[in-house]
Amino acid sequence: MLKDKTAVVTGSTSGIGLAYARAFAKEGANVLINGFGDAAAIEKERAAIESEFGVKAIYSPADMTKADEIAEMIALAEKTFGSVDVLVNNAGIQFVSPIEDFPIDKWNQIIAINLSSAFHTIHAAVPGMKSRKWGRIINTASAHALVASPFKSAYVAAKHGIAGLTKTVALETATFGITANAICPGYVWTPLVEKQIPDQAKARGISEEAVKRDVLLAAQPTKEFVTVEQVAALAVFLASDAAASITGSIIPIDGGWTAE
Ligand code: NAD
Repeated sequence: MLKDKTAVVTGSTSGIGLAYARAFAKEGANVLINGFGDAAAIEKERAAIESEFGVKAIYSPADMTKADEIAEMIALAEKTFGSVDVLVNNAGIQFVSPIEDFPIDKWNQIIAINLSSAFHTIHAAVPGMKSRKWGRIINTASAHALVASPFKSAYVAAKHGIAGLTKTVALETATFGITANAICPGYVWTPLVEKQIPDQAKARGISEEAVKRDVLLAAQPTKEFVTVEQVAALAVFLASDAAASITGSIIPIDGGWTAE
């Protein structure tokens, strides 16, 4: 479905992003993966994408807090593959703290990675998409783009911001064959969720088991974590021609969380 197309996925060395990159490669797209982590492990994932799916995969270490590195990453994909057709803004971090103790540098870092980086990638990739009259911009938002939870002020603010950015870009690109949508997962079992459990336990004064049961899965009527494969399948659909009329949509995939 995506043969001869290129997908750039930010924050794809782990979790949901890696699942997106693999799912787009499975559809025949060449991919640029990005994110932090152990160099050998990243190289192993990159090489596995090439050998399993018969596409080209390159890695960019661009730091999503740095506008110049983000522009270089988009330019690298365009230079290597000739285009950026599917742009997935997915890099994200979490920090959990009551607002009065929330470190200012964490606020700035979360706004930079979870929100501003999407502005910078879109800013760099849209001219090429407009000239080719085809593009798919897919932003990983969160159920926290639609509702809030305590102790996540920066994350919730950034994710609500991503929803607004998505809608604005959708309006600006609607007549150019480009769609922009936001995927809003509920809790997905990834390192991002696993790592916040001790902090949630501390902030709430409860055990780690109780965080999983009474905080995370309590929010999700299915009582199941969403899987990375389910999120990636939604992104693949949004990248398809069948989804050409879906734009500016903020789409929950949250086991019913935001229906309550
Ligand atoms: P993860 O921690 O597994 O992956 C995050 C990725 O972002 C990693 O590849 C990491 O290296 C990368 N990253 C972090 N800082 C970066 C930076 N400065 N520059 C470049 N890359 C950077 O987390 P995940 O759960 O897969 O999260 C992916 C996205 O999904 C995030 O935007 C997150 O907010 C969102 N999300 C996750 C959940 C969930 O329950 N896991 C739910 C809703 C939304």
